[in-house]
Amino acid sequence: MAVEWTITIEGKNDFGDICRKEVRIDKSWERLFDGDLGLSIEDGKKIMEALQNVVVNHEAETYSLFRRVCSDCHRFPAVKDYTTRRIRTVFGTVRVRNPRWMLCSDCYPGMVSAFAPLKEICPDRATTELMELTARLGSTLPYRQAANLLTRFLPIEPSETHATVRKRTIRVGERIDNQIAEEEWQATREMEERHQLEMPLPGDRHREFAISIDTAHVRSSEPDSTRNFELVVARCGRGGRGDAGGRYFATASTEQKAILDRTLHALRREGYRGYGDVIVLSDGAEILKRLPRAMPKPTTHIIDWFHIAMRIQPMQQIADFMVRSQSGLSETLSSIDREIKAVKWRLWHGRVDRAIHDLEGLLERLKPSLQEGVFSFARLHSLGSQLLTYIRSNRGAIVNYGHRHRAGLRVATSLAESAVNSLVGKRMVKKQQMRWTVHGAHMLVQVRTAEINGELRDRLRTPFRQPGPNVPSLFNPVPPLLHAA
Ligand SMILES: [Zn+2]
Repeated sequence: MAVEWTITIEGKNDFGDICRKEVRIDKSWERLFDGDLGLSIEDGKKIMEALQNVVVNHEAETYSLFRRVCSDCHRFPAVKDYTTRRIRTVFGTVRVRNPRWMLCSDCYPGMVSAFAPLKEICPDRATTELMELTARLGSTLPYRQAANLLTRFLPIEPSETHATVRKRTIRVGERIDNQIAEEEWQATREMEERHQLEMPLPGDRHREFAISIDTAHVRSSEPDSTRNFELVVARCGRGGRGDAGGRYFATASTEQKAILDRTLHALRREGYRGYGDVIVLSDGAEILKRLPRAMPKPTTHIIDWFHIAMRIQPMQQIADFMVRSQSGLSETLSSIDREIKAVKWRLWHGRVDRAIHDLEGLLERLKPSLQEGVFSFARLHSLGSQLLTYIRSNRGAIVNYGHRHRAGLRVATSLAESAVNSLVGKRMVKKQQMRWTVHGAHMLVQVRTAEINGELRDRLRTPFRQPGPNVPSLFNPVPPLLHAA
């Protein structure tokens, strides 16, 4: 026994053309005893592939026909030739007739030229949806895994492998990167022309723009390069603690101008107009230190409190441990414990000179104990020295964190940390066996950034919507001359 299902799809266009297609699925009763109930993924693939074939062919034919009409004399110019174009979609690859129309010889005498209408609506030979889905998966999962996932659930040809996923992800990344570069260029021009209309209100946390910026090390696959390169990853938002974190941005370029342009782009997207308080929170990495100096004034560079606290914490733990395990020495030790707490307290209140002074004193007092070869003392001394170096080299960027904290302002780059995790963590940093080119990594994070900022879809559709797109409006046909291939 069996049941034969028939699905019929019927389409009719403005020209009155009707197309009809049937898809048949046979379902035997025997399979019920194997636990197979209902339609399977494979059935779904078969159905969607068949339906897609009809719909895409019908739409392609209709669009081609519409584009053949000369917008001036409304006649059909000559055909140059027909080829077949393969259009990849999320529901399989569709082969469509791909005409090339000649320009109207009456209206454009002397212009012997042809154009391919399908190129206008499908420039990639893959639909925007498929490009988006592939890039989205490719920016989150290893390329091979993304390819497996796509072919498992969708009627996608097995020839679309990890190489296809990589290629599309990078292409989408390049497109986004170009758009951002274009926006940066536009905005720079506009900003130079604009006068400052508002007065800055210092100390208002809703007026403060905070950029939390960090770097991530990525293993390089380029043969003649050093083993690692850095990705600059950041988040840029308005307001203080507890407010939304704002936009993400990232670049594999460590050139100051590239970092600055990306930062200004993100700031403008958050409403920055060239004035107002900007703070840059970083861990003090060299390439990030240059950024605040290049930014419009007033920009303050602040060393992330978290990075300072993380350097003090192990010192406190050692001191704690020593107090508890060596009761005979507890007098001196508890004073060390107190001194470490004092250093932390001074740093929290931005009293850098006193903190340096106290820390130097502490290190001095630890010195005699170093001769005794006690590991804990040596470790404490080493950590203390590192902290001292860190504070000295960043002294200009250590502020009164307590004051900022009480005012509801940001003191830590927890946002940048989360940016690193969301943007590059899974794909690039933790997968230590993976190696990347600078270009590939940069483009991948562009996709990832657009995805997290919630604008991936929009950015992929933008080229079709801009003024003077490759697709003419159905109501106001543009002369094909402008679109001649
Ligand atoms: Zn004409």
